[in-house]
Amino acid sequence: MSDDTGMAWRRRPEELTSDIYAVLPWIEQHLGRANGCSPWSQVQPGDISASLPASPPNTPDSLDDIMSDLSNIIAPGLVRWDAPGWMAWFPSNAHPDSILGDLLSTVMAQQGMLWMSSPACTELEMRMLDWLRQAMGLPECFAESGQGGGVIQDTASSAVLACLVAAREQCTGGQINRDGPEAAAGLVAYCSDQAHSSMAKAVGIAGIGRRNLRVIPTDDRYRLDAIALRDAMDRDAHNGLRPFFCVATVGTTGCGAIDPVEEIATVCSSHHVWLHVDAAWAGTASLSKSQRPAIIAGAKHAQSWCFNPHKWMGAAFDCSCLWIARRRDLTSAMSIDPEYLRNDATDDGDVTDYRDWHVQLGRRFRAMKLWVLLRRTGVRALADMIDFHIELAKRLETAIASHQHLCLAAPRSLSLLCVKHVDGDEATQRVLDVINTSERFAVTHCRLGDSLVIRFAIGALATDTSDIDEIINTLSTC
Ligand code: PLP
Repeated sequence: MSDDTGMAWRRRPEELTSDIYAVLPWIEQHLGRANGCSPWSQVQPGDISASLPASPPNTPDSLDDIMSDLSNIIAPGLVRWDAPGWMAWFPSNAHPDSILGDLLSTVMAQQGMLWMSSPACTELEMRMLDWLRQAMGLPECFAESGQGGGVIQDTASSAVLACLVAAREQCTGGQINRDGPEAAAGLVAYCSDQAHSSMAKAVGIAGIGRRNLRVIPTDDRYRLDAIALRDAMDRDAHNGLRPFFCVATVGTTGCGAIDPVEEIATVCSSHHVWLHVDAAWAGTASLSKSQRPAIIAGAKHAQSWCFNPHKWMGAAFDCSCLWIARRRDLTSAMSIDPEYLRNDATDDGDVTDYRDWHVQLGRRFRAMKLWVLLRRTGVRALADMIDFHIELAKRLETAIASHQHLCLAAPRSLSLLCVKHVDGDEATQRVLDVINTSERFAVTHCRLGDSLVIRFAIGALATDTSDIDEIINTLSTC
């Protein structure tokens, strides 16, 4: 430790290098073990905190001691989202190339709140969003070269909140930011009964009030019913209310349903309603040319469109990409200009200051992990990964079709399958338990209609054909 100056907090760069070398074997072993370990942690609530000292050390601990506690105390409490048997919730893939980018970004410790506070962070992010826009076939209206643009948010939940606030301010002429929530009276937002809970959360936080969120029914494939949406908006407008924001989901959390975005857009435009597309999980599938038409349908009519590279695409958490058709809508709602952040580049108006694109001020250099991932892996391999995972899901789908007791609870969506037992919820629960106690596979559930349903969300980087055959084998005993 370089405490010869009496400044024990300082480290020489060589010390970091040697510490990184020292932890590399642990990292390699950890990643290598994903194959053999149980995806779910076996610890009980409180086990980990009981093993941690109640107070912090006053003097340094050795790296050896820290690494030994990492192995003995922390690692048993890790859930292995990277296990080949991971099919729970959605994938949260950290591709090695993005891990490398993330490490580099941490080393560089940039604060990208203003162009001036990190030109590299700002301009690489702008370019990465445009690379992805092109790779996914998203429309020109989201390009920075026009009135649009893209930004990396931490999560899709933050993205929908930012867009809701932008729509709120656009609809009220900036009144709520200025005068407070009374001016929100009469504003109404819309989403389907399958939309992600982040929408209800955002509506509460943004002062719209959850009772002013209209939850629109879905059709027999769990897609938002555009006729019911039109009826609801017409009724609200007739009653003197102000429809202002609607979420369409491309790949719902439950069963991956894809809302009819084109039809929804027509309804929204007739009421001047902001349409936000939430493609948090399914958006990545647009890298695959065969899946693209379904994923980006109607995107050119949306005011905002979001997906999470930190789910399926392999960008280590957190990384959520948001495109907006008129960046001014977002920046005028979020911009605040304190003296201590003033600078010539901002005053000249020629630069992007990403602090104006979301709630927080400080921001990480997240574009770095996209840059390294896209350059080292390439778009084609990522598209191939999507096609491969979809093929795996089809393999499982075929096995379910010939199973005596199991059936699909909804049509397969991309690499997501929803399955139930023909004898009802108790029997389905037993199958869930068999899978989740196998110490090999992890799945989660949802409810579709009245039924408990098992979700098989295939897409972990390590999942292979042999894993699908093994789960088919496990299911054959159910
Ligand atoms: N939207 C959809 C459709 C989701 O499935 C999820 C999470 O699974 C989210 C939003 C929330 O994502 P985040 O954790 O990035 O907020």
